[in-house]
Amino acid sequence: METDTPRGKEELLELDRKYVWHHMTAHNDNPMIVASGEGSWVTDVDGQRYLDGMSGLWCVNVGHGRKEIAEAAAQQMMTLAYATMVQAHIPSIELAAKLNKWLEGEYRIFFSNSGSDANEVAFKIARQYHHQNGNPTKHKFISRHRAYHGNSMGALGATGQSQRKLKYEPLGVGFSHVPPPYCYRCPFGQTKDSCSLQCAKAIEQAIVWEGPDSVAGVIVEPTITGGGMIVPHEGYLPMVSQICKKYNVLLIVDEVICGFGRSGKKFGHHNYGVKPDIVTMAKGLTSAYSPLSATAVSAELYATFQQAGPTSHFRHINTFGGNPVSCVVALKNLEILENEGLVGRSADIGNAFRARLTPLLEHPHVGDIRIFGSAMGIELVEDQGTKEPATPERVAQLIAACKSKGLLIGKNGDTVQGFANILTLSPPFSSTDQDVEFIIETLLSVFQTTP
Ligand code: PLP
Repeated sequence: METDTPRGKEELLELDRKYVWHHMTAHNDNPMIVASGEGSWVTDVDGQRYLDGMSGLWCVNVGHGRKEIAEAAAQQMMTLAYATMVQAHIPSIELAAKLNKWLEGEYRIFFSNSGSDANEVAFKIARQYHHQNGNPTKHKFISRHRAYHGNSMGALGATGQSQRKLKYEPLGVGFSHVPPPYCYRCPFGQTKDSCSLQCAKAIEQAIVWEGPDSVAGVIVEPTITGGGMIVPHEGYLPMVSQICKKYNVLLIVDEVICGFGRSGKKFGHHNYGVKPDIVTMAKGLTSAYSPLSATAVSAELYATFQQAGPTSHFRHINTFGGNPVSCVVALKNLEILENEGLVGRSADIGNAFRARLTPLLEHPHVGDIRIFGSAMGIELVEDQGTKEPATPERVAQLIAACKSKGLLIGKNGDTVQGFANILTLSPPFSSTDQDVEFIIETLLSVFQTTP
């Protein structure tokens, strides 16, 4: 693809410095200006190629440069660029039906723009459901520390990372947090052998302490991804699901990252055999070719919104949610995932990481390696015995070393708590064997040459 631009790099940087407010950075004087992408690779304005080891922000799951998606979008733009979701349009009908197949259950689909939106919608639906189902006092939500659920006031309220909240509080009210299922640093001091899933029981304790009559829902990601790839014990989510049922608390599963194959199955919760009341999704829904998110609500919950009365329906609207072009993009994206067997490919990539990268555990600064589908976290420590988190300088050095060899990776955790020490990778599922080999060889060589 053409990477030439009418403006030179220096001029672009000057304009960027003057006008652009970058996300999550104080000031970015010298950002990488990405010009194009093809498959798992992106190219900057200097023509330098990098393997996009994070699929952008855990989202470009079918890889860059998919012409069939661009063509479908262009066709839809020429046919019908926009209709409201008060009306109906063909792409949203087709997509809602398709999502039901992917979810393997009967769900109503409410479309929005972003993952944060999808979670806000979930919270409002949960509260209104209880209100209209004879439990008007149920309004609180339980989440976990280290979880990320979005940037808007409610979704940030649900988020359990202090660095994202400072100076924005108070946020949406009614959110409380319990310790995460963090086996490497078990908050309950247990080991694999002594584990009795106290992290799941902590959710029951929180419901009891808050008062079951006041708790509307529990929100969980199948694996905490952005909070540092915290993969739970396999019994965790089933136990959380049982606890929710016991107290008539809705289980909201945030599949914004884990959904659409990242977990190695269609959805992250399919790994655990649970049936959520509400599933939220975004990123991989369109592989980020166009913004779109969805909140899938069980048929049982939806029935409550069919009652007669001026305020019984879900009184929520947004302009762009369910945009026909985005829906067509999502349909094409799902078709690619199906036709190319990319959900299974995602699992295969994770298995290759597991098989080849386990020796990294011998490196003095690698504390733990956690893999869920094709998403991987490498937890860096100063000392394997004390598990003291690696310094920001050490983390930055490894990321820079990967970049210098042409591999883009991420880091996650909580900077305020001193735990931004987890390197993250979530490459496109369409990565070729050579791409996967490149990732593995680059990581091995970077750790070998970085004491
Ligand atoms: N939920 C999870 C698990 C996420 O990782 C994210 C974003 O990274 C969100 C929600 C919010 O999605 P968005 O950035 O599209 O608002």
